[in-house]
Amino acid sequence: MDKNKFAARRGPSNEAVQVVVRCRPMNAKELANGFKKVVDVHPSRGVIEILNPRDDGKERKKSFTFDAVYDAMSTQEELYNETAHPLVSSILDGFNGTIFAYGQTGTGKTYTMEGSKPDPSQKGIILRSFDQIFNYISRSKNMQYLVRTSYLEIYQEEIRDLLSKDRRKTYELREAAGIGVYVKDLSSFVCKSAKEIEHVMYVGNQNRSIGATNMNDHSSRSHAIFMITIEMSDTDSFKKIIRVGKLNLIDLAGSERQSKTGATGERLKEASKINLSLSALGNVISALVDGKNPHIPYRDSKLTRILQDSLGGNSKTIMVANIGPASYNYDETLTTLRYANRAKNIKNKPRVNEDPKDALLREYQMEIARLKGLLAERARQRELLLAVPVTKHEGNEDKDDSESGDKDSTDTEEKLRLMKELEEKKELLAREKYASEKLEMKIRAMESKLLCGGKNIIDHTNEQQRALEQQKQEIAERKKREVEMRQKLELQEESALEIRDTYTTLQQEVDYKTKKLKKLFARLQSIKQEIHDVTEEFNADRRDLEAAQNELLKDLKVRYLVIDNFIPADEKNKLLLRVRFDESDGSWYLLPLVPDNIVTVKRPVSSGGERRPVSDYGRVAIRLGRSHRYQGENILNLDLEPHPRTTSDYTGPIIAPKIHALLEEAMREEDDLDVDAAPLSNINFGARAKQSRKDREKEKLLKGNKARKKSSDLSSQSGNFLSTPPSTPPLFPKPRGLIPK
Ligand code: ADP
Ligand code: MG
Repeated sequence: MDKNKFAARRGPSNEAVQVVVRCRPMNAKELANGFKKVVDVHPSRGVIEILNPRDDGKERKKSFTFDAVYDAMSTQEELYNETAHPLVSSILDGFNGTIFAYGQTGTGKTYTMEGSKPDPSQKGIILRSFDQIFNYISRSKNMQYLVRTSYLEIYQEEIRDLLSKDRRKTYELREAAGIGVYVKDLSSFVCKSAKEIEHVMYVGNQNRSIGATNMNDHSSRSHAIFMITIEMSDTDSFKKIIRVGKLNLIDLAGSERQSKTGATGERLKEASKINLSLSALGNVISALVDGKNPHIPYRDSKLTRILQDSLGGNSKTIMVANIGPASYNYDETLTTLRYANRAKNIKNKPRVNEDPKDALLREYQMEIARLKGLLAERARQRELLLAVPVTKHEGNEDKDDSESGDKDSTDTEEKLRLMKELEEKKELLAREKYASEKLEMKIRAMESKLLCGGKNIIDHTNEQQRALEQQKQEIAERKKREVEMRQKLELQEESALEIRDTYTTLQQEVDYKTKKLKKLFARLQSIKQEIHDVTEEFNADRRDLEAAQNELLKDLKVRYLVIDNFIPADEKNKLLLRVRFDESDGSWYLLPLVPDNIVTVKRPVSSGGERRPVSDYGRVAIRLGRSHRYQGENILNLDLEPHPRTTSDYTGPIIAPKIHALLEEAMREEDDLDVDAAPLSNINFGARAKQSRKDREKEKLLKGNKARKKSSDLSSQSGNFLSTPPSTPPLFPKPRGLIPK
């Protein structure tokens, strides 16, 4: 690809975020419930109209204009060819690009980004972009490409790598000059074909659902970001300039308002974190559009930091706002349309990324060159080795012939030596060959990752198909231009009304002015309505925020209370001295208790290979054989010597005799109280209470037989007991207490 083509595609320096809206069809449930359709989509003009279902025709339809709008009949292919295709082409020229799907849960964000799996015609933007990228590369000439992907998820302000095995590990954001914001240690996979990259996506999606208890719930609350980085360089030009295009494909969390009020503790934290990224995104968009404040709050959330370049920076950006057509979604749909309408005004400054600092392609190229050098060096050495012949020892030739007896033996020695040398040489050569083969394999493996047109990728599409694709592209482009023209025409018509101020007759003037008045009045009404709606929305947001703030304040107060009452002041101060704020992370951390720079002194190593330090005396003793096991070592062998006792047995306190007597009285064992179930009247309490249980048992034993005999008499007497009143009042045992009365 020549430089001019790059320059031509470099595009304008200032480019607005493209906003397209897609309205999904009514689903079966909505149809069954008989919900009304309140959204009208006009693809030819790029206009969406929405009617308030609560207002019986009094309120006018609200109308929004976008770069493109897609109705229920729109196909995945149409949307891709018209919006995403040109952006992906730019990525292949070295631009950054972002496509994100925004909208309420269930409106088709995942459908737009990923599509439904089994049907190829239902493939979403991500899968189609893979096809486009690899098809493009396969047709390129004299170019080398390296494609790698990463897949991450942001859930409750924590970044997780969807391609890593460790699902619990969270990742941090870093910023570096020349690279921008990136996720530290995020894994990335080099992909050689659309199939490979698809596999990566499915693995990531599977990981996404593993961590979630309820997949639907989880995916509607988390942001998934699929990143494709394409590095490219010319292979024939002398100076190999490397360009890099980065594509972020984002399926955002559902934009519906999460209820914050009433939640406390963990739930509050969760609720405030879920929508934090989305509200931060809204704030960033507002700040960018407003333009009054130079500070853009990118740092407020992880999502906005990752999207820093995509919003107002070096990137081409497309926002796909997804909406539902049914009446019960009216509020959310309107909010989404307003959000999208605001985003239209963001201006980006995309440029081709040349010579990036973190180019993996350069590393690969350099490594391949190094390995090739090594291989060449090995080949040279092998040749040298082969060139040196296995020769006889010169010294042996000078030997006297007369020493014939020795000669035979030296000859065989010589033979053996030569054979050994030969063997060694063979072995060396074999080793060399093995090493060279390994090197070659490594080089081939690395080169296979670098993609070149027509070489690595088998391009199945034939010329006809290519031509068809090209035509489809052209149609898409034309359609886009048509919508643009219509929008321009409408604008011109409006302004033309103001310009035409010469009229032939008075009646004509009246007609024109009435028409103009009507139009302006309608506009005034709709703007008034808009102001009212926006104020309402703003107030609702404010109420929510205030409620969240109150809850957080309460939480903070409790924490302060705990700190003030349960943590000693000096401990608190020590902690305060250790605590630091990490600007790059936006989080607090504690400095370690022991500074890192203190080197702990190591115990000296035992000298002379002994297990313990040994005295010279010990060493001599060992050598003289006067040793038993520890004699040579500095250990004193002494009997245990008991220490004199320093403690005494416990003796109770001295108690005054009067108190002692009182205590005795209080501790004295007393008779058990016997509570009888018999009626109060028939018992002589005083006498019975004083009778001990032992006495009563004795009595029972003695009277055992007598009692049985008299049982009939007793039963006859019982009637009398009930009827006769008690002669003396019942006596209860009295509390004695410690103090005598
Ligand atoms: P989200 O990701 O926004 O929560 P989904 O993409 O899961 O929503 O869509 C919800 C359902 O609606 C899915 O069953 C999907 O197939 C269907 N759907 C969404 N948009 C469309 C569309 N444009 N055409 C047909 N079906 C759609
Ligand atoms: Mg989804």
